[in-house]
Amino acid sequence: MKVRVDEDLCVGCGLCVNTCPDIFVMKDDKAITKVSVVPAASEESAKQSKDECPVEAIIID
Ligand code: SF4
Repeated sequence: MKVRVDEDLCVGCGLCVNTCPDIFVMKDDKAITKVSVVPAASEESAKQSKDECPVEAIIID
């Protein structure tokens, strides 16, 4: 499973960083991903972050 953040959509609310700190981190008021391939142990929280993102900026492949 791969994950990325569309930085044009991200409004920097920080929700994904709170929900899934293993994958997301804030940088310059935007969320970025620490890794592009999500470890199995973090898949559920990464999916939850996608569902919670208010602007649907998290893309999972
Ligand atoms: S939840 Fe969405 S809008 Fe908020 S910081 Fe994460 S990617 Fe950006």
